[in-house]
Amino acid sequence: MPIYEYECAVCGFTASHVVLGSEQLEHPHCPDCGSVETRRIMSSFAVVESEAARLENFDTRKPRDESFYRDARNVGLWAKKRARELGVDLGSKFDETVEQARSGKLIKDMM
Ligand SMILES: [Zn+2]
Repeated sequence: MPIYEYECAVCGFTASHVVLGSEQLEHPHCPDCGSVETRRIMSSFAVVESEAARLENFDTRKPRDESFYRDARNVGLWAKKRARELGVDLGSKFDETVEQARSGKLIKDMM
């Protein structure tokens, strides 16, 4: 499921938006000011790359505050990294669950 990042031209707010199915949202509403003057700033490919980077830089020993979990892309990151450190294979079902948790939060954030 591709996730795109948008930037609002009016207030500068950036938001992630999950594109469902064949839906092509060129200008989703800004979740902050409601403007449709938004533009896509990242491809889904860049998001995938950035997750790999996040996972790499993520330190499971450091405390995480609330704002960490406000970013939906961080959902499941701790578990993934921890599993990798322990050499545990979480399987594809886990990835699926994480994706669902993330997109659920993302959609909620857009409302
Ligand atoms: Zn805005």
